Amino acid sequence: MMAPTHEDPDFCRECGETVLSLDLTERQRLVANGSQMTVSAGARAARKDAKNALKERGYHLARNHIARHPGFTPFRRCDVAYVVLYPRRQPNADPDNFFPTLKPVVDGLTIGGLWPDDSSRYIRQRTFLQPRRTTGKTGLWRIEIHIIPIEGEEES
Ligand SMILES: [Zn+2]
Repeated sequence: MMAPTHEDPDFCRECGETVLSLDLTERQRLVANGSQMTVSAGARAARKDAKNALKERGYHLARNHIARHPGFTPFRRCDVAYVVLYPRRQPNADPDNFFPTLKPVVDGLTIGGLWPDDSSRYIRQRTFLQPRRTTGKTGLWRIEIHIIPIEGEEES
């Protein structure tokens, strides 16, 4: 079986995935290196604010999804693909760099009740992908969270 490319969110949904999507501006991203890592108190405070804002957005993403799906039960066994759309095609982009941005979002999803927690007990595998798609908008990134439920496997 070919590895899924997650190029078409509608098709992913038809296949039983849940796809949540979050748009991010340059300022809303938390990068792993560069000026945000400076140790000044002001920079640390700004980073903490950005982190909390991301956590809150994750929380609302989860709550909105749950509100729109009556009878929703938290995911207990799934794989997750984090699909990072860049403003334009960037062959050298490293989607792993989105981990610092994503972590607070995922924490927010957990608090919002999407899964009991984001440990490997519930999330078997997580992948970062850069699709062929882009946002096509300068200064705009998008993270799509593709949740692929695993059928017929007990949590361990
Ligand atoms: Zn997908």
